[in-house]
Amino acid sequence: MDTRTPHKTVLVTGASSGIGAATAERLAAAGHHVVAGARRRDRLDALVERITADGGSAQAVDLDVTDARAHQEVVDAVVAEHGRLDVLVANAGVMPLSRLDAGLLDEWRQMVDVNVLGLLHGIAAVLPHFTRRGAGHLVTIASVGAHEVVPTSAVYSGTKFAAWAITEGLRVESPAGIRVTTICPGVTTSELADSISDPVAREAMVAYRAHALPAASVAAAVGYAVDQPDDVDVNEIVVRPAAQR
Ligand code: NDP
Repeated sequence: MDTRTPHKTVLVTGASSGIGAATAERLAAAGHHVVAGARRRDRLDALVERITADGGSAQAVDLDVTDARAHQEVVDAVVAEHGRLDVLVANAGVMPLSRLDAGLLDEWRQMVDVNVLGLLHGIAAVLPHFTRRGAGHLVTIASVGAHEVVPTSAVYSGTKFAAWAITEGLRVESPAGIRVTTICPGVTTSELADSISDPVAREAMVAYRAHALPAASVAAAVGYAVDQPDDVDVNEIVVRPAAQR
């Protein structure tokens, strides 16, 4: 018997560019209703317009994941409007890479705020709803940086190790109806590296980006996990360019 549930309601954070936008498009194309959240509203509105023009279903919401209350309000509003939230794709992230001896405290704090606390705010917002329903799916966009550390990635990798551990923690604490997936992309075409202010790290990214995956390849991995039958929990997918070592 096919226990697949089409037409889920999915909240994608950081949907205004890169992997988040591609994921929103991929999930909408598969028939799901996508709630696209981020801070750049103009980008979200353009995304919703594209999805709708292609026959999909989507809406945009203003969402800064560092604001726990705002995250809760967005989740509550989605549940009130649609009666349910089936999937949270916790994708919002920042990556201002630098060596530790550069001492860029503000950038370290920003990575912890968005990549770790942002994820925790999402979990805090959805978990009571998932628990009440006995169903729900958290998809965390971590990174290959959740498994390895290279020079300039200490803090970023630290936040992604944390994202991996927190997501795994939800899996081991949750009843069977709650599914948990960590996606670990390798280098992917997006705007992520644009925020790197450190010249050493910027230079290192140039070579990396030469063989980047299209964001749609990561979105396909998310779609694979989301579209499994309810009794199948894909816990982790590592997807990197074949040329990345
Ligand atoms: P982009 O920079 O293109 O996208 C990042 C997204 O995060 C944007 O939509 C941005 O939206 C959003 N964002 C940043 N801060 C906040 C915030 N405070 N609240 C809400 N949204 C926020 O990069 P990617 O698509 O590459 O990044 C997506 C995820 O993928 C990140 O978690 C990243 O760490 C991860 N990743 C990326 C890899 C890559 O090589 N590209 C590799 C491995 C993992 P806005 O500014 O509008 O709020």
